[in-house]
Amino acid sequence: MSLYKYRKETNPKLKKRNDIIVFDNVVSPYSNTIETVMSIITESNLENKLPFHESKDLIDVFHSVGFKTFWLSNQPPFGWAENLISSIGSKTTTQSFVNTLNNSSYESNLNASYDEKLFEPFAEALKDMSPKKFIVLHLMGSHLLYDKRYPKEFDVFKGKTEESQFIAQYDNSILYNDFVIDRLFHMMKSNSIKNTKQIASAIYLSDHGENVYDEDNTLGHHAVGTFPKSNVEIPLLVWLSPTFKMSDSTKVATMKSNKQKPFVSDDIFHTILDLNMIESPLLEKSRSLFNVEFNDKRIRVLSDGKDYDKKIRKN
Ligand SMILES: [Zn+2]
Repeated sequence: MSLYKYRKETNPKLKKRNDIIVFDNVVSPYSNTIETVMSIITESNLENKLPFHESKDLIDVFHSVGFKTFWLSNQPPFGWAENLISSIGSKTTTQSFVNTLNNSSYESNLNASYDEKLFEPFAEALKDMSPKKFIVLHLMGSHLLYDKRYPKEFDVFKGKTEESQFIAQYDNSILYNDFVIDRLFHMMKSNSIKNTKQIASAIYLSDHGENVYDEDNTLGHHAVGTFPKSNVEIPLLVWLSPTFKMSDSTKVATMKSNKQKPFVSDDIFHTILDLNMIESPLLEKSRSLFNVEFNDKRIRVLSDGKDYDKKIRKN
């Protein structure tokens, strides 16, 4: 993402937005989908080591405080990378699975189902009149196969060798993702203009990173043993409605002052509770990136058992 100083312009739309906060020191605890998504959505983290199936999750908490919940997914509901995640999604009030052409995670890797399919169910969810809503969108993003992740008009970058073609396809998928995320933020913004009393926020993050010949002359994720840093370095963007900014300017100031602090996405659980002003014994303020009590001294030993910050200092 050029938003994170990548040399090619892959974020022409997001870079023009002056209403987002870009957090630039965020890593995922694992290098694969299931465990990263589960550690985003549940209270489990690398330090408490709670098994996912015994952990409270965001859907439980939002239901306990009267939110209507939505699960809108462009990933197929079934498959080795999806079953556990769908078991959480299936607890929501309303579900929409738009990747209907594929029967499994494996098939969805090989076939196209563009993330813009989520615009329509997202618009419906925004229209819903419930006073409190928590909406999850699960994108295909830039998962392999990269050239299946964007329509023709985003086929902008080209490569000549096999390696440079993979890189170009990945870049195109990021360019398309820029369009998708920008549109989703735009929909939030339009909705907040219509509903001037509604306090709204949106968080975008990736489950894990991707090595596209950045290191070790290889590509992909889910590395076994020690993983390359490109597998865990992830974007985290936040959009806030004008009403949010007016209602809690102290929180907004804290968020802005924390945007370069080191964070592991397994603590996004606490961060999301905090962002939604949910008072719960489950909320550990020291784990919320948006809180004045945030602990920026956490040693980031990731699931490969290595201290990420020591590793990058060495390189
Ligand atoms: Zn993934």
